Amino acid sequence: TEQTPSKPKRVLLAKPRGYCAGVDRAVVTVEKALETYGPPVYVRKEIVHNRHVVETLQERGAIFVDETDEVPEGALVVFSAHGVAPVVHEQAEQRGLRTIDATCPLVTKVHMEAKRFAREDYDILLIGHEGHEEVEGTAGEAPEHIQLVDTAEDVDKVEVRDPSKVIWLSQTTLSVDETMVRVNQLRDRFPEMQDPPSDDICYATQNRQVAVKAMAPECDLVLVVGSTNSSNSKRLVEVALQAGARASHLIDYAREIDESWLSGVDTVGVTSGASVPDILVMEVLAYLAERGWGEVEEITTANEKIAFALPRELRKDLVR
Ligand code: SF4
Repeated sequence: TEQTPSKPKRVLLAKPRGYCAGVDRAVVTVEKALETYGPPVYVRKEIVHNRHVVETLQERGAIFVDETDEVPEGALVVFSAHGVAPVVHEQAEQRGLRTIDATCPLVTKVHMEAKRFAREDYDILLIGHEGHEEVEGTAGEAPEHIQLVDTAEDVDKVEVRDPSKVIWLSQTTLSVDETMVRVNQLRDRFPEMQDPPSDDICYATQNRQVAVKAMAPECDLVLVVGSTNSSNSKRLVEVALQAGARASHLIDYAREIDESWLSGVDTVGVTSGASVPDILVMEVLAYLAERGWGEVEEITTANEKIAFALPRELRKDLVR
C-alpha cells in the first residue's frame, strides 16, 4: 500500500511576541534597585505576571508581598507594572516606606483619563477583568465614578446618573475584538456613551494579537508561552482559537508541553505574552526541534521600537 507523503513539519514564530516596553522597564527597575541599594528590595504584587521572572528576581533578593503592610517600616518597595490605587501610595507613606513606582506609563495614561473624567463628573464604565490588579488600581483612582464591566451580565447591571455623560475606558491587556463586543452592548444601552480619547488597549497587546491572528489559520497547534495569571497571554490563546488554530495551549515552560498535543500536527505556531522573556520561547523551539519541528519561519506583522525611561525615583540614584 502506498503511504500519503506527510506534510513537512514546521514552526511559525510570531513577531512581535514577548517583552513589551512596560515589562522590560519594570523588570530592569527591580534589577537596578537590587544593584543600587542592595537586597532586600520589596515588591508589591508580582512585578509582572510571569513565574520565571518572579522566581529569578527572588533568587537575587527581591521579596514579593501582597500588601504594603507586609513591608518593614522604612524599607524600599517597588510597585508593579500593573499600577496601584492612590490609597496604596498613602499607606506606603504612612509606613514611611521608600517607594519606586514601576507602573507602566500606558497604565498611568488610563489612570489619568479616569481622574480627568471623574473630575468632570462622568460615569466611567471600565471594561476589564474582575480581580485583576490593573483594574483595581485604575478603579481606585475614582471609586465613586467607576463601574467595572467584565461580563455581558455586567452590562445589564450598570446604572448611570446621566446617560449623556458616560464614557468607557478599558484595561490595557484585553482582547481587542471582545472589547468591541462589550462596547457595542454598552452603546445599545447608552447610545450617547463616549469613546476614550485614545486606545486604552496598549500597542503591545494589540500587536501580539495581530501577529497571532496572521499565523493561526495555518496552525494545527499554537503554543503560547505565558503564565496563567497573565491577562494578555490568556487572550493570545483565545485569539489563536478564534482565528482558526485547531488547538492552543498556554504554557510557562517547554517541559509543560504534553507530547500528545503534537500527534497529527504539521504546523506549530509559537508566541508569547508581553511578560515573557524570550529565553523561554527559545526553550520551546529547542523542544520542538528535537522532535522534528526544526524549520522555523518568523511571521512579522510589526516592528516595535518603543522604550520607556526608568522611574525618576530610581534614575536619580543611578551611577551614570
Ligand atoms: Fe504596558 Fe502594555 Fe506592557 Fe502592560 S502590556 S506593561 S500596558 S506596554
